[in-house]
Parts: sequence; C-alpha cells; structure tokens
Amino acid sequence: MKLPRKNPSTSQIASTQPDPNQAAEVAALKSRIAELEELLHQKDKPPAFTLPKDRPNTSTSKTERFWQRESDEQVRFALEAAGIGTWEWNILKNEVKWSSNMGSVFGLPTGSIVPTYEGFLNIIHPPDRQVFVETVRRAFQEAGNFEVEFRVVRPDESFRWCVGKGKIISNETGQPSRMLGVIYDIHDLKHTTESLRFLVEASHTLTSSLDYHANLQQLAALAVPQLADWCMVFVQEKEGEVRQLAVVHADPARTAWALEFQSNYPYDTDIGRELQKDILQVVRTGQPQFLPEMTDEMLVAIAINDVHLQWMRELGPRSKMAVPLVARNRILGVISFITSRESGRNFTPADLELAQELARQVGQAIDNSRLYQQAQEAIQAQRELDHLKDQFLSIASHELRTPLTTIKGYSQILHRDLLRLHPANLPVVNQVGSREMRILSNVVGQVGRMELLINEMLDISRIQSGQFRLKLNPQVDLNTVVRRVVEQQQDADNDHPLLFQPYQAELIGNWDETRLEQVLNNLISNALKYSPAGSPVEVGLEYDERANEGIVWVRDQGIGISPEHQGHIFDRFYRARTPMNVNVDGLGLGLFISFETIKQHSGRMWLDSELEKGSTFYFSLPLSEAEDADGTEVAS
Ligand code: ADP
Repeated sequence: MKLPRKNPSTSQIASTQPDPNQAAEVAALKSRIAELEELLHQKDKPPAFTLPKDRPNTSTSKTERFWQRESDEQVRFALEAAGIGTWEWNILKNEVKWSSNMGSVFGLPTGSIVPTYEGFLNIIHPPDRQVFVETVRRAFQEAGNFEVEFRVVRPDESFRWCVGKGKIISNETGQPSRMLGVIYDIHDLKHTTESLRFLVEASHTLTSSLDYHANLQQLAALAVPQLADWCMVFVQEKEGEVRQLAVVHADPARTAWALEFQSNYPYDTDIGRELQKDILQVVRTGQPQFLPEMTDEMLVAIAINDVHLQWMRELGPRSKMAVPLVARNRILGVISFITSRESGRNFTPADLELAQELARQVGQAIDNSRLYQQAQEAIQAQRELDHLKDQFLSIASHELRTPLTTIKGYSQILHRDLLRLHPANLPVVNQVGSREMRILSNVVGQVGRMELLINEMLDISRIQSGQFRLKLNPQVDLNTVVRRVVEQQQDADNDHPLLFQPYQAELIGNWDETRLEQVLNNLISNALKYSPAGSPVEVGLEYDERANEGIVWVRDQGIGISPEHQGHIFDRFYRARTPMNVNVDGLGLGLFISFETIKQHSGRMWLDSELEKGSTFYFSLPLSEAEDADGTEVAS
C-alpha cells in the first residue's frame, strides 16, 4: 500500500517548524500503517477482532497480538465514549483496580480514591452507603450479580448519581474471590426522569382542588426535598406587592422558624418590601434569578440588617433560583427554590429549565383558578340580582294589582254610563261627551294591557317560588279552546288576516283551559306583533297518533328569529333584539310563561324560524285516554 501523495497546497501552508507532538503522532501513524500493510499481505489472516478460541491468549503470533491489541483498544474506546468505568476487586487482597477513566466518571481528580473497598465507600454520599453495602453483601451471600444506584460526593460537596453493576467470581473451592463490574453516571438521565415525574405529579397537585392557595402549599411541599431544600411561592395581589403564600422546608421546625422570622416583617411594610427586593425584581423584570453558587459575600450584600444577615447565614443558602409565574403575558408571582449548604446540591441550568416549566404550570393554574373564582362571583352576583328582581316583581305586581282593579272597575262604570248617555246607534261625533268617551275607551284599553303585564309579573313570581298551579279540567277540547282565542283575536285585530285550520275531530285532554288560552293569546299576539300589517297569520291543530298528542301551531310571515336567539327564546326576560323589533314593546316574559305552562301540562314547546321569512311556534299536549263503551281505554 502506498501512502497518499501530499497535497502540495497543504504543504505550502504548513509551518516550516514541525511541532514535536505532531511529529510523534505522524511517526506512530506511519508505524501503524506499516503494520497494517504487512498484515494485508499475510495469507493466514484471522477473522477481524476475534482470537482463535482453541489457542491460549499467550500466543506469540504477531497477527494475534495485533488483533488482541486492536480489540482491547476498541473496547476501551467504547467504554470511554459511553462514560463507563470498569473495576475489579480482589476480595482476598482487598485491592481495587479500576480503569483509567474512572476518575472522569466520578468527576474526581485521578488518585483521589484509595483503591480499597473502604476507600471506595468513602466517596459514596453517606445516606446511600448502607444500601450499597447491603446490596454487595447480598450478592456475596447469593454468589450472584448486583446492581445499585448511589451518589458520589465530589470535592466541592456536590454529588452525582451513578449506577454500579457487579458480578462475583468464585475460585476453584467455590469461595467468592473477585468481583468485577462497571460503573456509569446516570445523573442527567435520572434528573430528566425525575423531572418528568415531578411535573406530572405537580400538574395533578395543581388541579386537585379549586382552592389554589391550598394547591400551591401542596406543590411547595412536593418540591421539597425533590427539587430543593426550601420552596417559597409568592403571588402579586397588588402592583408592586407580593404576598408569600407558601414556604416549606422538609423539616417542619425549620419551616416554622422561617415563618416566625418573616412574621416580624409584614410584606406590605417598607421593611417587608426591602426583604423581598429580589422577588420584586423578578416580578418587575419577568426574568428569573439564577444563583448556582451563593457565597457569604452575596449574603452580606443582600442583607438589610445584621439580624437579617444572621438569619440568612442560619438558613445557609448554597444555590438559589426564583422564577416568575406567568400566564397570558401577565406576571402573577414568583416561585423560589433554595438548596442549603448541608444538602450539597447546586442548581444547574437543567434545574432552571425544570423550574421554569413548573412555573408555567403554576401560573396557568393560578390564572384558571382566578378566572373560575371571578366567574363564580359573577354568577353569585347574578343570582343575587335575580333574587332581588324576583322580589321586586312579586311586591310590585301585588301592590299594583289592587289600585289597578279599582281603576279598571271605575273606568268600566264610567264607560258604561257614558254609553248609556250616548247610545251606540247615535252618531257621537260633535255630541257633548264624545271626547270623554274616546278618552275613556283608551283608558279601558290601556288598563287591560297593564293588567296583562301585571298578571305576567305575578306568574313569574309564582313560577319562581314554585306556586304556579294549574286548574285542570278533564274534558277540555283543544279545538274549542283554539277556535275561541282565534275568534277573539280576529275581533281585536283588523291588520292581519287570521286563518284557522281546526282538526276534524275532538282533541280531549285534562288541561287548564284559562292557562291554555293565555298561551295561545301570547303566541298569536306575538305573531301579529312581529309581522308586517297585511301578512297572514295561521293557526292550526294536528293529532299525533303515535304519541297520542294534540299539536297546535301558530305561523306568521314576519321578521323571524335568528338561530343564535332561538336557543334562548324561552328564557325569562329574553328578547331577540334586532333593528326590526327595536320599537316593539314587551318584557320578554310571555314565551317563558307559555313554556312553563306547557311543561306543567307534560307537553312540549318548540319553534321553526327563519330570519325575515317568518316563524312557526308549536306546542304539544298529551290527550286523555278515551274510554270505550265497555270501559276499556282507547285513544280519543
Ligand atoms: P315580548 O314579546 O313581550 O318581548 P315574549 O316572551 O312573548 O316577550 O317573546 C320573547 C321574544 O321572542 C320577543 O321579544 C321577540 O324578540 C321574540 N319573538 C316572539 N315571538 C316572535 C315571533 N312570532 N316572531 C319574531 N320574534 C318573536
């Protein structure tokens, strides 16, 4: 094999003074290439990266040695690239040997671990030693494999999560003599898994109840000690003022101690605000505060007085993050996390990311909860208003009814007396009293309208208080009732042709006749009211044999009702306001009362309507079961 020719342009650029390291590297490369060339020319080339099984490893064959070396290098490279350290513990001699990359796996300087079992135990975080020792002991007893997770303490007192896997090797007598194994760092993986688990739990906590104060308290408790040693939640209730809603330390006594200190400095005082200046800064800027390593000088700089400094030193913060709680581009508060000296934990950028994700969830939860609260308050206020309205309606309608009855009575007497003075067959124009008569008939008409409105108001009060009762009569014929109302309406209205389509047979039911007349009056007068003069209004009856129901419909060719109003049309006080009916008087009560009346008769009420085309209102009523001559019931 020939070495590739040097690229002339490269050699021109190259320095004239060769670097000694580079020269050594080139020499090593050349010798490797020579070795490979020689190998390629050999005929008995073994399969790549394997040693013949039937020959001992002590073979002197140059080829085999070469492939052995290659194979070892491959494995070493793979282990280093994967961050896996290997070790071997000679139990009998209590000697530990480990791969050269072990220091970097633990993040420890080379040679800082005494190569014995005890030396290794010394670098394990004290709370994890017991589990480690127990796991290894069990593996001994069972002469099996083991796997254990533990934290390694670094010289700066921070720790990393590692996993150790091992295998016991026994000698010829069956006694465990050696232990082989691997160790690798799972810190980041564990952090990610735990972060995800934490976020899921946090999201459950935040939605566990509608009381967000309680949820935040629980959330702070969840974050400790998983995420931090201290967790505090602040909410901004007024511009530039934050109130602490939660403070938690794993040890309740420490929590009480912190609360006691803070109680001396209420948040809405100058000194309270001074104490919270870093939190207020986060609220103001919307930027998180991230202090991975806190020093005593920092505490001195932050402290507002000696007592505060003393308190902070006792708190012993090692690392801190304070993250804004944001929802819909508004800053609602801050969540702050602190690790203390003894925990040996420093926040990393990954922790900050987790805290920010959590803060987003918290912000959302606070916002939702506040919106819900506002909606509840609005509903409550509406209920109170409705109650007042009902009360007013009830009182006003009762109070108005008595004087109205008197006015009605007197105006009717006067009207009758005037009629007697001026008999209808005589022309009244220009006669004495003709003007008074016109006025009086107007008064009687308006009193009738007022009576109708007051009766509607009274009905509403009755429906609201559950005192709306029907006076049922078992022998009412629907045809007769509808015909009567249509005729009355025909007499009163000359603007529209009113057409009636009766059903060819009796439709008998157990109904309140007066109330049904009221429903029909309302539907027909609406049809007349909401359609242009001259357009016909039709009223008809049908029989639904399958359901044994009588159906009444009232159809007009008027302004119609748009789909968005149709869903509310039977609501109390609802009026479909459009430019076309803006000048039409009404309270929006008639359909509500009609709907309730039909409902109380166990019937249904509905409509078909198209804007500017017209509307048809329907109601159905269950008919009585008719009795046959022999007493058996048949449909009427
Ligand atoms: P009011 O007519 O006194 O306002 P109603 O309860 O009888 O009260 O009717 C409620 C609303 O329904 C009316 O304000 C009107 O907007 C609409 N409406 C009722 N009947 C018709 C109809 N036939 N055509 C168009 N709109 C109607």
